[in-house]
Amino acid sequence: CGIVGAVSTRNIVPILVQGLQRLEYRGYDSCGVAVHAGGGLRRARSTARVAELLEQIAADHIEGTTGIAHTRWATHGAPVVHNAHPHFSHGPGSAPRAARVALVHNGIIENHDELRAALQARGYAFASQTDTEVIAHLVDSLYEGDLFEAVRAAVGRLHGAYAIAVFHKDEPHRVVGARAGSPLILGVGATAGASESVDGENFIASDAMALAGVTDQIVYLEEGDVVDLQLGRYWLVDRAGRRMTGTERPVRTVH
Ligand code: GLU
Repeated sequence: CGIVGAVSTRNIVPILVQGLQRLEYRGYDSCGVAVHAGGGLRRARSTARVAELLEQIAADHIEGTTGIAHTRWATHGAPVVHNAHPHFSHGPGSAPRAARVALVHNGIIENHDELRAALQARGYAFASQTDTEVIAHLVDSLYEGDLFEAVRAAVGRLHGAYAIAVFHKDEPHRVVGARAGSPLILGVGATAGASESVDGENFIASDAMALAGVTDQIVYLEEGDVVDLQLGRYWLVDRAGRRMTGTERPVRTVH
């Protein structure tokens, strides 16, 4: 349903939660946030209002400079906490280990059954009934040290509609997004003159409204685009993997 994500130098959780609140009017059955914190991934998820998620975040001291957040409108899997996004991948194997990939998704993955079967055969254990969780494990299975390349390879195997935002334990200042069939935008931080953002911050969201008051400098992604967000820089490639220029994907000022 709704996506917000950011790469920053300050604790970004309040901005992510505020973004979710701006998207609340669209309706949702659950919500969640995940951050990169202290070398690992942490998250809070809830089937109640975003305000309740905020209490959980405060109680659990969830803070981080890189993160993603989501409001879910369930299509695959009941509206329960273990199906709420962000979804994690811990990699294959049954021994308890640290989460490596965190991912949020809007839309529907049509070939989720065959992808799940292939990943299970490789030792991935599933913690939800969602179509979304297959994308998290797929990205993990294709990861060779470069999240952007892993996401590009993963989306090449997806059939269906998606907007996704994902980050990896080993790349603490990077969020990668992709869209096909669901909207996704990029919000450029203070370097472009936005009022309330700090230097070098970059954002991703399903709707520019999620970033109101944070940045008004927006790049609209097109079908098949993959975007790489880092501190102080970003780039986009199209479906063919061609790097997009500022003329092809201009920064627009929204009001
Ligand atoms: N299909 C996904 C799920 O059921 C995403 C739904 C959404 O767009 O919120 O979890």
